Amino acid sequence: MKLFKNAIVFAPQYLGKQDVLVASNKIIAIDHNIELEASHSLTVIDAKEQYLIPGLVDSLVHISGGGGEGGFATRTPEMSPQDAVYGGVTTLIGALGTDSVTRSLEDLVAKAKALKEFGLSAYCYSGSYHYPVKTITASLEKDILMIDEIIGVGEVAISDHRSSQMSVDDLARLTSQARVGGMLAGKSGIVSIHVGDEPTELALLEQVCQSSGIPLSQFYPTHINRSQSLLNTGIEFAKKGGFIDFTTSTTEQILAAGEVAAPLALKMALDAGVHINHISMSSDGNGSLPVFDQESHLIDLQVANVRSLHQAMVTAHQDYQVDLAMAIGSVTKSPANILGLAHKGRIEVGADADLLLLERESLAIDSVFALGQPMMQAKTLTRKPYFS
Ligand code: ZN
Repeated sequence: MKLFKNAIVFAPQYLGKQDVLVASNKIIAIDHNIELEASHSLTVIDAKEQYLIPGLVDSLVHISGGGGEGGFATRTPEMSPQDAVYGGVTTLIGALGTDSVTRSLEDLVAKAKALKEFGLSAYCYSGSYHYPVKTITASLEKDILMIDEIIGVGEVAISDHRSSQMSVDDLARLTSQARVGGMLAGKSGIVSIHVGDEPTELALLEQVCQSSGIPLSQFYPTHINRSQSLLNTGIEFAKKGGFIDFTTSTTEQILAAGEVAAPLALKMALDAGVHINHISMSSDGNGSLPVFDQESHLIDLQVANVRSLHQAMVTAHQDYQVDLAMAIGSVTKSPANILGLAHKGRIEVGADADLLLLERESLAIDSVFALGQPMMQAKTLTRKPYFS
């Protein structure tokens, strides 16, 4: 058991000064003052009035690598578990991207299993940018139903010159398969959508819902901050009941090309009246950050990092005055709810004991606990993966 004393708790909603008791991998009590007799099975951690928040939930990470848009030398490396720990990300959803020829779902699921063996929580999307969708079992429904780690499908690409140019019927059929697989498995069956920079924006998603009866909330479109125009469209989409996700990894060049920084997009969406439950941020970690010119030629390529998620949360609060509980919610409870992970992204009795201690002034990450186990304490890693 672990007892966190004197923590200022954001659950993500503000709970004030609390003690939080963890048994094995679960939170079992939250109270103003929890007193327990000392024993060899109890570790007391004095939080010294640091902020205790849920471990971050990153809904889109290319955990097994991605990219390759500039040739084989530009294939991005897989994510190191230390990056997730330093960035306070305790739950990751892995995805393939543009390349589903040299990258496989088997490799992606194996990487998720490796992260779980390390002590983090990891899930995956079946499929990739490509349509017809590539799967492990030759059936999207079966992948979601029979493979523990797979909770949905994605990133399915729309409005992008790298997409498979799906029709309304194509996407409706794929979404129904994910939805039914999810229902039968008790999972979200969420359809993660990579939205590119073509002017069609989110139109295909609305057309699918109009023609099929599938709710907008079955889709989880990301990169909604890639332009002011797409952000405006996304805000309207969210007001109609959809979810929108902002990408935190970026470069000066991408921002100069018109991207709205994720923390600013969060501020604008909240100010426009979108409910926090409909907004999240994700890192796109280890994906490529390509910049294309007017003729769709690649002119720059960087690699995204999972650590940008925490930085964006901090920037949203410190630079854009987003309420701290809202900023935390956008990277914890909101993505967890959208993904159907009711035990993640919150400090509640019965929830998984994924916890971060943050310094109060800087909001820097001091300590990380994943499923009750210490991964980093006083900014020093306490668990090291193989080969590091
Ligand atoms: Zn993408």
